[in-house]
Amino acid sequence: MTKVIDPRLVKISTRTEVNIKRSLPHAALKRIGAWVFLDHFGPTVQVDGMVVAAHPHSGLQTVTWPFAGVVDHRDSVGSSQVIRAGQLNLMTAGRGVAHSEKSQPVGDQLHAVQLWIALPDLERNRDASFEHFGDLPMLELGSLTARIFIGELNGARSPARVFSPLLGAELRLSTGAPETVPLRPDWEYGLLVVRGSALVNGTLVSPDQLAYLEPGEARQLELEATGSDDLLAVLLGGEPFAEQIVMWWNFIGRTAEEIVEMRELWNARDPRFGEVIDEVGGWIPAPDLPNATLRAR
Ligand code: MN
Repeated sequence: MTKVIDPRLVKISTRTEVNIKRSLPHAALKRIGAWVFLDHFGPTVQVDGMVVAAHPHSGLQTVTWPFAGVVDHRDSVGSSQVIRAGQLNLMTAGRGVAHSEKSQPVGDQLHAVQLWIALPDLERNRDASFEHFGDLPMLELGSLTARIFIGELNGARSPARVFSPLLGAELRLSTGAPETVPLRPDWEYGLLVVRGSALVNGTLVSPDQLAYLEPGEARQLELEATGSDDLLAVLLGGEPFAEQIVMWWNFIGRTAEEIVEMRELWNARDPRFGEVIDEVGGWIPAPDLPNATLRAR
């Protein structure tokens, strides 16, 4: 039976009060392959937009995938990149990077997902890097169209570099035309319904919900759009990620001590994270650590 997860609402540290719908990590599901974080932002009308001042990451890659709106990305490896719907920003934090985000007053809506990919132990201390992809492969399976932003599906392969076996694709399907997507039986998968509603292998999934398929559960995704709107969804997949990680704030490490050190380095403005030159100004200090010991999971 397919597990269906409701997101939790989270306020992010922006200068505007915006709710994020977070599906990963979640009490009911810690990750899908190396996908360890899934935030769904909007759709929202831009009043004063989304502004996130400079903050660090380490031990992960960030994936930004907009459905609507325009966001300006700046980072400490010198990138200055505007991103639009259908485009991918992939930032490899490695041992440390800092970045800021600012939505641009173009159009009236802002709608995106942001994901994190845990870097395997052998790759997590690499130098930071950033890539933008403006033109990603499209796959048509009958009436279903898929835009592949990470990994490969039915021969359509994203050029974006990741470090473990993964899939990330935007799916669009009209109502009344069910389609089947082949899956790898040894992988796990999640389908986030962004707009419309869907029957996923016979289970009804409503907007903002994530359907999770565990390894071995299904050889194919049987998908049918059942709402009045056409279906817009994000399909994530991956080989189960075998390593235990410690995830806190914007960092992924392997031990609590490492996280404590990263927090101190960022708050001391250590050069490991570099400098961000942007129009936002300022930086977000790491919050206090929790009283409980951070544990690997
Ligand atoms: Mn970030």
